[in-house]
Amino acid sequence: MVTMRENILDVLRQGQTILSDGALGTMLQSYDIPAGTLPELWNAERPDVLRAVHQAYLDAGSQILTTNTFGGNRVRIREAGLAGRGVELTRLGVLLAREVAQDKAWVAGSVGPTGQLMEPLGPLSEDEAADIYAEQTTALAEAGADLILIETQHDIAEATAIIRAAKAHTQLPVFCTFAFNAKGRTMMGLRPGEAAARAEEAGADAVGANCGEGPAAVALAIEQMRQATNLPLIAQANAGIPQMGEHQRAVWDITPEQMAEHVRSYVAAGARVVGGCCGTGPQYIAAIAAALRSV
Ligand SMILES: [Zn+2]
Repeated sequence: MVTMRENILDVLRQGQTILSDGALGTMLQSYDIPAGTLPELWNAERPDVLRAVHQAYLDAGSQILTTNTFGGNRVRIREAGLAGRGVELTRLGVLLAREVAQDKAWVAGSVGPTGQLMEPLGPLSEDEAADIYAEQTTALAEAGADLILIETQHDIAEATAIIRAAKAHTQLPVFCTFAFNAKGRTMMGLRPGEAAARAEEAGADAVGANCGEGPAAVALAIEQMRQATNLPLIAQANAGIPQMGEHQRAVWDITPEQMAEHVRSYVAAGARVVGGCCGTGPQYIAAIAAALRSV
């Protein structure tokens, strides 16, 4: 049995494949989080829900529990009308995941983009980005995360700024995943090979694909990353593309069984951390766990 007392990089270097978790946002929606509420606010207001969600993933077999801190950077916190609470909500996110994980799973401190473009295309300067992400990654590490998981990246400038901040201000392994469309590009036009190479150059310990257009797009991106790096690869796909169903609830078109069918191609392409992103829940993780056992 693997425990979080072992460094996750040592376990990956031994060639083991690690099962991560699935979506947090989708799960919070299933608990009727009001539209427009910053998910991180529920770390303070509904810790019972966060505990239940983390527990469901642990029970499904997840060896990594991801903190509810994706939007915990001060830009998003300010936009949500919660200025000054970023560090508090980030710390709470780690403590809740840690409380459930104990030593049975690693706690991945989630870091998402600010949503602003970097200079010269947008207002975010390199110094400001460095400062924002120094604050967030320091809070994640001090609260007890086992690794930093930088997710849903589109822009290599922002991704590398976060990786460097995490490396400069924490001692933790740093994972970085990018979101690709079916044509193998991020929203900013970045390709998987370049993303992987530049993230490695900036100091990432593992790279991969998350979110985006579903498992086929993630498998393709992983294959292309393998050409560009020898780092462990990460595959965390969305459950396809959401359609609006009854009561304004998103309906996802990939089932847990269909998601599990892609696991073999992920692993063949070099993925060593496998989980899910938007639209996935504990049933998907259980299906992926079964598929991983048969690979
Ligand atoms: Zn996603």
